[in-house]
Amino acid sequence: ATGLVLFKPLILNLPFKRAWIRLQESLIISYQLPVDFTTNPSTVLFFYEYLKLVNSLSTKRQQSMSIVVEGVSKLYGEQKALDQVSFSIKPGEIVGFLGPNGAGKSTMMKIITGFIPASSGKVEVVGLNIQNDPLKIKARTGYLAEQNPLYYDMYVKEYLHFIAGVFKLKSPNKRIKDIIETVGLEIEQNKKIGALSKGYKQRVGLAQALLHDPEVLILDEPTTGLDPNQLEEIRGLIKKIGAKKTVMLSTHIM
Ligand code: ADP
Ligand code: MG
Repeated sequence: ATGLVLFKPLILNLPFKRAWIRLQESLIISYQLPVDFTTNPSTVLFFYEYLKLVNSLSTKRQQSMSIVVEGVSKLYGEQKALDQVSFSIKPGEIVGFLGPNGAGKSTMMKIITGFIPASSGKVEVVGLNIQNDPLKIKARTGYLAEQNPLYYDMYVKEYLHFIAGVFKLKSPNKRIKDIIETVGLEIEQNKKIGALSKGYKQRVGLAQALLHDPEVLILDEPTTGLDPNQLEEIRGLIKKIGAKKTVMLSTHIM
């Protein structure tokens, strides 16, 4: 990654101890730290060195990386939404993507998930190039888009069956039952999506992202607009899911 490394000992709204790397003006990536650390300056320095090391290794050993972004820029007409952004994420890491509205978080996530192309630069997910293998990458990546777009007129299970069909899952009934349990949707599973509270809608969004058991999860503002209780629950859920997957999530709450 380029530029300045920022550290904050305990970040307001996120449950993990983190290190922060500034990618461009307002876009920051935060890595979950392997051990606890305090405000002690020498510890901070240690993590600065640690992250420099991680980042230098990551460009040399890309095969072992879950996500590699190298020098990615994105232009919307005249406007540069991303300017030479580089970072890499190891399998199993939970990383946060921070920045105010307009910083480029959603743009970066749409590029990683193959929904829009970068203007320049390289993106690899699970060792595959996004330009060469977009479908293979989609099959191994779960994506919760910003604003959690859902079909409000569909029933929860009907919607999950629809998603299972998209991914051609072998035993959809069993998989849907399991995922409903994983995200804690049991009591709401027979309702229409539109009838659910915001927190439960978010669980449906997570369920669709997880249904095909992807190795990588990309969650764009998964906790925005939730009340404090829902927020705690969804964070806990992401942490639980993240124990086995690479997770990249964004937030504008800094
Ligand atoms: P964030 O998710 O951090 O709020 P975005 O990636 O949505 O940021 O947006 C980054 C910048 O790119 C913003 O200035 C936004 O207005 C602009 N932008 C995003 N999508 C488009 C688009 N489809 N066309 C033109 N400009 C866009
Ligand atoms: Mg956004």
